[in-house]
This record gives sequence, structure tokens and C-alpha cells, in this order.
Amino acid sequence: MPSNSQPRVAYFCMEYALQSNFKMYAGGLGILAGDYLKGAKDHKFPIVGIGIKWKQGYTDQRISPEGKAIDTYPIYNYPFLKDTGVTVSVTIRKREVKCKVWLCDKFGNAPLYLLDTDIPGNEDNWITGQLYGWFGEERIAQEMVLGIGGVKALRALKIPVDVYHFNEGHALFAGFELVREQMKRGKSFEEALRASRQQIVFTTHTPVVQGNESHYLDRLMYMGADNGSFSKQQLKQLGGSPFNMTVGALRLSRKANAVAQLHAKTANKMWQGVKGRAEIIGITNAIHVPTWVDKRILRAADGMSGEIWKWHQENKKNLLTFIYERTGVRLKQNSLLIGFSRRAVPYKRSDFIFSDRSKVDRLFKTGKLQIVFSGKAHPLDDGGKQIVGNIVALTKRYPDSVVFIENYDMTVGSMLVRGSDVWLNNPRRPQEASGTSGMKAAMNGVLNLSILDGWWPEACVHGVNGWQIGNGYENRDEKKLDAHDQKSLYKVLLEEVLPTYYDDKKKWVEMMKQSVLTTHKPFAVKRMLQEYYTKLYTD
Ligand SMILES: *Cc1c(COP(=O)(O)O)cnc(C)c1O
Repeated sequence: MPSNSQPRVAYFCMEYALQSNFKMYAGGLGILAGDYLKGAKDHKFPIVGIGIKWKQGYTDQRISPEGKAIDTYPIYNYPFLKDTGVTVSVTIRKREVKCKVWLCDKFGNAPLYLLDTDIPGNEDNWITGQLYGWFGEERIAQEMVLGIGGVKALRALKIPVDVYHFNEGHALFAGFELVREQMKRGKSFEEALRASRQQIVFTTHTPVVQGNESHYLDRLMYMGADNGSFSKQQLKQLGGSPFNMTVGALRLSRKANAVAQLHAKTANKMWQGVKGRAEIIGITNAIHVPTWVDKRILRAADGMSGEIWKWHQENKKNLLTFIYERTGVRLKQNSLLIGFSRRAVPYKRSDFIFSDRSKVDRLFKTGKLQIVFSGKAHPLDDGGKQIVGNIVALTKRYPDSVVFIENYDMTVGSMLVRGSDVWLNNPRRPQEASGTSGMKAAMNGVLNLSILDGWWPEACVHGVNGWQIGNGYENRDEKKLDAHDQKSLYKVLLEEVLPTYYDDKKKWVEMMKQSVLTTHKPFAVKRMLQEYYTKLYTD
């Protein structure tokens, strides 16, 4: 590292959300990575990103007339990508796979290098086809391109790197390439491992065990993921059997972080049995404010009351128009509107607000309460698609007050976090790692109504800048947990949120201001980058 200067960082991630129609992302992981690269550019941190140029992106998910989620995969062209002239090769299943390297610097982001196997002469040109499209061998091939190909691309581009940051376990094979390089220079395996570890940091994301990918050792060997440096036994020592990518990354990094303070506790508990792993500290996620937040709201937050309300009403009106264009439903400007958009997975409990319908049936029927949903299910997840189906069925039961917007993406997201009145989040604690959509909402004066999970315990002052549902209750018994949380949700919704909205506008507006004022600095990406530098990269 040059003295007196900051470490130069290469950040590896499977997905980047930089702009709505640049389909290199699926969800929250990509949103974080995209906002991180924009922050790096704004605040002049020496960071480059490494990713994959997805030919078809993640699914374009539409709802059929029968209410089923249908996946389509259009092919996109991105004429703004710059050809670096560099091609690297990765050996996968004993075949040479050529990866072309593109540069994206169009969205106010630090340089992002994207690897692409869809080039003439490549037998395996499908590897960079669909983001999270497959599991097993195909997923390993994608991760080899990202990791091994990514390090080779950095060398070919002559970009000096002091720290390799793996955002999620997907990038782990980059570490294997570092080990191979060290061994080629004459180090023993153990020495190479130690030297590589000194340069690697890792961000872990999901506190849900099944969300942490693993692969059979034989399959890794067959694919060539060992990269000519690891024996099967050595792979097992690193990641166990089957080989867990998160465990491998925790053992191959010098330091690791979780994405909120509560998540750090959960993650340390979750991986306490893993010997020889990196310490996991908490560095709470943050957002790129210019991308997600209405400047007028920020300005109005310490100005006169009328202002923030006026701009919010305009944002709400825009959202209602957007909803009308997408769904044909006209929601009411003067009725409370709840926004809810999440991946359709069970622990997020998407239709929880309907779990005791007797409590809310009249409110939805009379239009005193309105809700807009969005969110995709993974294309191969029938359970997730069932969740989407349930919500679509609710839109038919309450056609004037419940809507679902198909094909959740950055456009839908930014409309919802600006124009809703309340942002609802009711995951089963402690399974939400962070939840950046709540930060976007909070800074737009949209009041969070949330379980104390992810980032929210760090920000919530109940009744002042939003509301907490319950008091941090946890129970492994899902039935008991759900029953408990259900009561808490209805209590705060019916006794605090609705009365404040309809009967105490002055307090509501004051809460909107507090929401903005208490979140807009601590959850802006600059703070996160500074913490990465002081706690992860240089420490
Ligand atoms: C912000 C955002 C996310 C991440 O939000 P969570 O709170 O983690 O669910 C995911 N997808 C889109 C399109 C977003 O804008």
C-alpha cells in the first residue's frame, strides 16, 4: 500500500443495481453494491467493482390473468458499456472459458468491470446468462468467472489492489486465485493461504441458514473450482462438507462484517461453531441518498411544516398515478397508504397484515386503509410464487384498496419509498439482515412501521420517528412468534398509526420531519464507507 494513502479496494459482487433498466441486479444485495460504488465515486474512495455482465439479468416477472407469477427473460443490449480490450480465461470443467471484460462508469459510479462469457468461440457462452438462474454446477461456473476471472481481469487491467472485498460468499473463488498466485511465486499452500487471508475481507448477508450456499466437494473438484491449488481435503478444511461458501469465506478472510448491529450478533451466534474464522463486526448498510431521496423533502425537514407535507402529497400523487397506469386501480389521495415491497419468501410474511382479517376487513373495504405490494419470487421457488399468488388474490377481494405491482425493480422501488405514507416491514426476527428500503422510506418522510429487526432497532424512537411492532420478541416456534407479532402489529396499527394519521396531522408531520432528520446522516452511504475504511479495510 502506498504510504499516507487509503488502501485500494476491489469489491466483488454477483449483482449491481446502478440504474433500473441496467439489469445487473436482483434485489437488496445488488442495491447495496450499486449504492456503494456510487458513494465511492462521490466521496473519492479508491474502489473498483468486479461483477458479471448478465445477458438476461434476473427474471422479468409478470402476473398472468389467473394470478400466477410467470418468468420471462428478454435479452438486453447496453451500448454504453466500454470494451476494455481485455479478455481473460478461466478453466471450468477442464475447458477454457474466455471472459471479455467490459467497463461501466455511466451512472456516477466508481469503475465497474463486468465479465462476459457470451463471446464468439466460447462453447460455454451461457455461463453469464441469467443472474441466480441456476444452482449446482451452473452456479459454481458463474462464481468461478466472478472470482477467478475477476482477479485475472484486475491483473490484465494492471489495477493495483490492497484489499479484496467479497460481498457475499459468491466471490470466494477470487480467494482461490490469490492462493494460486502465491503458490506460483513459491509459497507453500499454508503460507499462501495465510498471505491471501491478510488481503481479504468479507461481508456476510443472510441470517437464514438455507440462504447460505453450499456445494458437494466432488462437484467443486470436478468443476475445477479448486483452481489447481486445493486438494479435496484442504477444501473440506476450509468450508466443510458439503462445502459452505459462507464458512469458506469466513475462514479465508482477515475480517468480516454483518450488515446491521443486530445482524452481527445473530451472525456470530450462527457461525460460532466455525473454528478459525474471521471475527464478524457490525457495519450497518446505508443508501446512496441522491439516488433514492427527494431533495425537496430533505430540505423541508427542518423548514416549515406545510412544506414537507406538500412535497409528500405530490410524491403520493405521483405514486397513485403510477399505480393507476400499472394496475388500472385508482387509490385515494386522502386515505392512509401502506407500502410493502419485499422478496416473496416466508420469513418476510408478506400478507401478515391480513393474517386476522376480521381486524382489518372493514378498514380495507371502506378504503380507510390502502396497501400497495410489490416483490418477486425466485423463478424456481414455488413457495414464493404461492405468496405472490396469495397477494394477487387479496387484490381481487379488495379491488379498490389493495394493489400488487408486478416486476419489482428500482423504478417501482423508488416510487413506493417516496409516495407511500407508511413503510411496513414485518419479518420474523432476527431474519432480516438489514433492510435498506426502510432507510429510503425514512429519508423521504415515509414513516416506518416495523418489527425491531435489521437496521430498525438502531433508528427507531417509537412514536417519534416511526413505530416499532412489538418489543424485539423472538421465538423459534414460528406459530408462537406469529401469534405474538400479530397482536403487536394490530395494536400499534389500530391504536397509534391510524389515529395519528386521521386525527393528529400535526403530530404526523412532526414525525415525518423526525424521520428524515434522524436517519439522513447515519444511514447515508458516506458513513458506511468511512466505517469500511476504518474498521474493515485498514484495521
Ligand atoms: C431498496 C431495494 C431493495 C432492498 O430493500 P430491502 O429493504 O432489503 O428489501 C430491493 N429491491 C429493490 C428494487 C430496492 O429498491
